[in-house]
Amino acid sequence: SLQQPEGDQLPRYVRVNTLKTTVEDAIDYFKREGFSYLGQAYRLDDLNLKGKSFVGDLHLSDLLVFSPKTDFHDHNLYKAGHIILQDKASCLPAYLLNPPTGSHVLDACAAPGNKTSHLAAIMKNKGRLFAFDLDAKRLSTMSTLLLRAGVTCQQLANQDFLKVDPDGPQYKDVEYILLDPSCSGSGMVCLRDEASPSQNEQHKRRLQALAAFQLHCLNHALRFPRLQRVVYSTCSIHTEENEQVVAACLLQNPGFRLVPLLLQWPERGLAPLTKCLRASTTKTLTHGFFVALLERHTAERLEEQ
Ligand code: SAM
Repeated sequence: SLQQPEGDQLPRYVRVNTLKTTVEDAIDYFKREGFSYLGQAYRLDDLNLKGKSFVGDLHLSDLLVFSPKTDFHDHNLYKAGHIILQDKASCLPAYLLNPPTGSHVLDACAAPGNKTSHLAAIMKNKGRLFAFDLDAKRLSTMSTLLLRAGVTCQQLANQDFLKVDPDGPQYKDVEYILLDPSCSGSGMVCLRDEASPSQNEQHKRRLQALAAFQLHCLNHALRFPRLQRVVYSTCSIHTEENEQVVAACLLQNPGFRLVPLLLQWPERGLAPLTKCLRASTTKTLTHGFFVALLERHTAERLEEQ
């Protein structure tokens, strides 16, 4: 059978936190420590690194790539919040949502907050970033992480996103939503296991329950009155949680459509949802992941075209 890379064989991705430093300064720091910088990657194979060499990622400019098993958890730059240890695929949602400086943004299921801090970096800490999570413990981890990352534009709430009132006056200018809801986690290579036949029914029921929750969240996100764009992501490989959720949502919300994403990205959503992205160990050297970007198409926008 085809040999799939295990989690510890994937490249070590390092997102540079531009709220605290620059990519150039991070590169210099690693070079002074004896790492050797090979420049910007220009094909996927350039991300297969050995020893102490590293490159700039070929898709995401704030991302550095090191060899598998490089451990930075005790590194000064990590402890000072200058770098975030985040898989490349999980950097896609904030990068693709790309909220402008000064905008009002909502992160619906936010803890532990890696995507929230990425959004804040893109917004240069200017604007408003509402972040919700149901789990108080994860939310407290998140506030530590955001403090370390120098995020200051956030407003955290230990709240069920489904109970957030889209017509609340504080959300009237929310134009961008990042929705990264709970999922099966089947894309995380360390968690991947084959379901035995006896677990099959249980597995199906679990996926159905997750998909119902995910669709509910996505529909809820689209109810914010000024919403322009919502990015939906999961770390699942199951179409039930990915393309099927998005397809159902589009059917129920004819005012929204998919935005075609990163044409140079090697792995697409399953047909017909090829505007969406998928990620995997084999095709993108990341964990398994799915991303869709929906935008409102208003009468004015149609006239612009
Ligand atoms: N976006 C996060 C990040 O990048 O660090 C990871 C989010 S994780 C996939 C999903 C989160 O959704 C969990 O922290 C979970 O507690 C939270 N959650 C589940 N149901 C929720 C709900 N109804 N409202 C808000 N948060 C919820």
